[in-house]
Amino acid sequence: MCERFATLLEPATSSRDLKGDVTLVLLFPNRGFALPRSIFKYAQTLIKLKLGCGKICGFCALTRGDIIFTRLTTLHLDSVDLGRNGANLALILSKCPVLEELIVNCIRFDRWISDASVSSQTLKRLTIDGGEFIPPESSRQTLTMLKESGSGEPQLLPDKSSCVEPAHVSFDTPNLVYLNYAHVLARSYPLVKLDSLVEARLDVGSTRHQMRARDSSGGHEVGYDATNLVMGIHNVQTLHLTSDTIEVFGDFCKTVPVFHILKHLSIESDHERTWQALPLLLINCPTLHTLVFHGLHHRVTDGCGDACACITFPSSSSCLSSCPVKILKILDFAATCGEMSLVKHFMKKCPLLEEVTIVLDFDSTLEEDLDLFEVYEALEMAPRASPNCKFEVLS
Ligand SMILES: [Zn+2]
Repeated sequence: MCERFATLLEPATSSRDLKGDVTLVLLFPNRGFALPRSIFKYAQTLIKLKLGCGKICGFCALTRGDIIFTRLTTLHLDSVDLGRNGANLALILSKCPVLEELIVNCIRFDRWISDASVSSQTLKRLTIDGGEFIPPESSRQTLTMLKESGSGEPQLLPDKSSCVEPAHVSFDTPNLVYLNYAHVLARSYPLVKLDSLVEARLDVGSTRHQMRARDSSGGHEVGYDATNLVMGIHNVQTLHLTSDTIEVFGDFCKTVPVFHILKHLSIESDHERTWQALPLLLINCPTLHTLVFHGLHHRVTDGCGDACACITFPSSSSCLSSCPVKILKILDFAATCGEMSLVKHFMKKCPLLEEVTIVLDFDSTLEEDLDLFEVYEALEMAPRASPNCKFEVLS
């Protein structure tokens, strides 16, 4: 297989002018390929490298002392099996002294018995999609070498609830500006050094095993703790949270930090996930300017509290009464009774709202076949805590 690959790579590399900045994209058709040594010919000129898919052997070649990717700024490992521990990733990072962006899709963090960690002083952007390794189609065979690459094929991810959780995950990346982290909840996050983080997207979900542990804990510790992870992102200005993550905030964090400078918060929604953590999260965002909901679905519990209108509380006070949000956007709005009453609740309670924008979801059937004008009419006259709040409904 290696010989066959070499015969493919050499003509590709020799037929092009590779003296300038080089972007190399190598997508392997199947398991069992060795990392081509031809790559090392370009260690001084590579600026972007993408490797996928399957079990690419020969990472040990990187231990050669003279091999350093001196100009590599972007590294994308797509469905690459790095083995049973994190040493290979650490090794690669040690050979990339100016790496600024790392993307790893489906690298099987769950197989790493020891810490699954990313440590780099130069990284500015990090995407980790720790979903289960997806074997490539055996017929897939692509070899391309480009001056400038496009990247990022869509991934088909399995349901996180059936994944195996990694033991411990750490981020020692003090200069990271952007983090996109998607995986199942780890047992712990021993080191989370994200001092420069500006924007984060978290899609951290719990497995069925973790949910059972939570449900049977009787209030005792369950052996999974995301507190360090959440504390580590407290200094972001923009935060995107999936419905799974909101639930993890409520179930597996000892506390929710104060997000002192958070300006933009977006929240995805799901009928199966609770909003237990939402009231405290909103209270702990004292400078929030824009709040975006991707749908308003959630599983109703007492923990929703007065952030929503699912359960009527006797008190007229609400966590929303001190909410500084000026712009509220609700996307994928299906105009169900619950959604309509929730929008009215927001407008009635949030005192500083300046703009409310509703974007209808025409992919789902609007409740009672309401059209855009009827939704507008039904909400226009709703009482508002902020009398000057503008209101619009878009399709
Ligand atoms: Zn609710």
